[in-house]
Order: sequence, then structure tokens, then C-alpha cells
Amino acid sequence: MKKNKKSVKLSTKPKKIQKTKPTRSTKPSKKQVAVKKQVTKKKKADKLTPKAKKLQDIRKKLLCQKEALLAEAEEALNTLPGQMTFPDMSDQASAETERSFMLRLRSREQKLLKKIEEAIERIDNGTFGICDSCALDIDMRRLEARPVTTLCIDCKTLQEEEEKLREG
Ligand SMILES: [Zn+2]
Repeated sequence: MKKNKKSVKLSTKPKKIQKTKPTRSTKPSKKQVAVKKQVTKKKKADKLTPKAKKLQDIRKKLLCQKEALLAEAEEALNTLPGQMTFPDMSDQASAETERSFMLRLRSREQKLLKKIEEAIERIDNGTFGICDSCALDIDMRRLEARPVTTLCIDCKTLQEEEEKLREG
């Protein structure tokens, strides 16, 4: 059969599928230009005094602490058994107790969070490490150990003694 023969001839091997690499134009975008500017800005910041470098380290530590606190608070919020309904009244009561405990915990975290944010602010505006009470420099070792502090060790000790006296 003539027709059949022709069709056989036409059926050749399928062409190899060429692997094509995705080619994208690599024009410098506005963003890249902005990054370049930032790099030149950063070079200036490299000339830090040892104290300034320490402050930057403390700042980094505070930021990490802040992020950890926020993550913790979020987790606590997600585990609040507020929307659950209990068939037993006593179960509901214990859930309430747990809930108020969680909220108290959160308010403490929030206070610490505020202290951390204020410490970062003080680093940024150059008032970090100055005692709130006597205006003298707070010892760097104390700052490194407890960056959120606003009092030098002498004033802190005095404050604690006064608190003890007040409490009787
Ligand atoms: Zn002081």
C-alpha cells in the first residue's frame, strides 16, 4: 500500500529536546544602585573606637533578646486556653487561672521589652551608659552583663537599700 509506506517514512526519530537555560536580562536595577550607596556608608562605620564597638555588640545582643522575647510572647499568646470550652466547671476554673498567669507573665515580658527598647534608644542617641541618678559613666562590665540598667552600681546598691528600708 502506497499510503502506508509514506507514513512510515515520515515517522522519524523524535528530535532531541534541547536543554534551554533560562536567560534573564541582568540590568542593574534601582535597588542595586541603592545597595552600592549603603556600602560606601558602611565604610565610615568601620572606624569604631573600642567603646563604640562594644556598644554595637551590646546593641546586637539587645536586638536578639528583643526578638526572642517577642517570639516567646507570641507563643504564650497562642497557647492561651481562652477560647476553649469545658464541660466541667472546675476545668474551666483552672483554665482561667492558667490564663491569668500567662497574662501576668506577658506583662513582665513587656516591661523587659520596653527596657530593652529604651536601652537601644540610648545607644542610638548617645546617652547609653550614663547613670540616671548621678550622671557618671556606668562601668562597662556592668553594662555588658546587664545592658538594660540605667544606674551605676553605687546608685543601684543605694536604691536597693532604700527599698529594703521602705519595705521594713
Ligand atoms: Zn550613679
